[in-house]
Amino acid sequence: MNKTGRRTVITSKTDIMLTKNEFRGRLEGVKCILLDLDGTLYQEDHIFDFTLEFLEGLDACSIKKIYLTNNSSKGRSDYYKKLTAMGISLNEDEIYSSGDATLDYLKRCTDCRRVFLLGTPSLEAAFTAAGFTLTTDAQCVVMGYDKTLTYEKINQAYKLIKSGASFIVTHPDTLCPIRNGGFDIDLGALMQPLIYATGVAPVIIGKPHAPIIDGLLEKLSSESGEQFNLQSLAIMGDRLYTDIRTGKENDFLSILVLTGEASRDDVARSDVVPDFILERNVDLLNYLPDI
Ligand SMILES: [Mg+2]
Repeated sequence: MNKTGRRTVITSKTDIMLTKNEFRGRLEGVKCILLDLDGTLYQEDHIFDFTLEFLEGLDACSIKKIYLTNNSSKGRSDYYKKLTAMGISLNEDEIYSSGDATLDYLKRCTDCRRVFLLGTPSLEAAFTAAGFTLTTDAQCVVMGYDKTLTYEKINQAYKLIKSGASFIVTHPDTLCPIRNGGFDIDLGALMQPLIYATGVAPVIIGKPHAPIIDGLLEKLSSESGEQFNLQSLAIMGDRLYTDIRTGKENDFLSILVLTGEASRDDVARSDVVPDFILERNVDLLNYLPDI
C-alpha cells in the first residue's frame, strides 16, 4: 500500500485480463461507473444507438453514473446541454470534469484561494462561483485547457511560478479529438513551455492521475451518505492511456470499449492492459446481476 491507501500498481505486460466469471464477481461490488464520453457513449455529436439502453440498464441495477471528462474548456452546463440534446436523462451533478476536480483539490488539499487562472470564461466562472479570487496576486497558478491563451498570460504565469506560486494543471491530454478524425493541441502540450521555463513539475489533476478520483470518492460519499471506495468504482472508456490507465494506476476496475480509439491490436501492443474488453457499452448488461 502507498500512503493514499492504493496498492502500489506497476502496470506491465504481465497484467492479464479477468475471465468472464471473475469480471462478474468484481462487478458485484461496483456501485458507480465512471463513463468516458466521446468514443464511449457517442462519436462527436452522434449518440450510439445502444447507449440509452445501456444507461437505462445501469439505472435498473441501481448503479450510479458519473460522466467523466478531462476537458476543462467547457463547463458542466455545456456538457449537460450536449448530453440532454442526445436524449440522455441526467442531473448536472452527475457530470465531473477535470475543472471540477481541480476546484475540489484546491479546497481539499491546499489553502490557496487566490488563483492566477489560465482558462476559458466558463472555467473562470466556475472558479468565481466556488469562491476563489482570480488575480495576478496569486498563491497558485492553475492552467486549464485555455483556448484564450496569450503570451501575456503565460508570461505572468511564469513569473508567479518562479516566485514560488504552486503550479497546477487540470489534465494531461496532449491532443483533443475534433470532427472528422482530426485533433487540436491540448493542455499536455500547452503546459510544456511553463515546465521548460520554470523547471517546475505541475500537480496534474485529471485522468489518469489520482486527484480526480480522490475528489470523486469524496463527492460520492458526501452526496450519498454512504461510503464509496475504490472497490465501489469502475471506469469505462475507449482510450488506453487515459481511461484504462486511470483504473490501473488507481487500482480499480477498468473496462475498455471498442467503439472509439483503441482496438484489440492496440491492447496487444500496449503496456496498459484493461481488466476487461467489451465491444460496446451495452454489452456490460450481460454481466450485471438482475438484468
Ligand atoms: Mg473517449
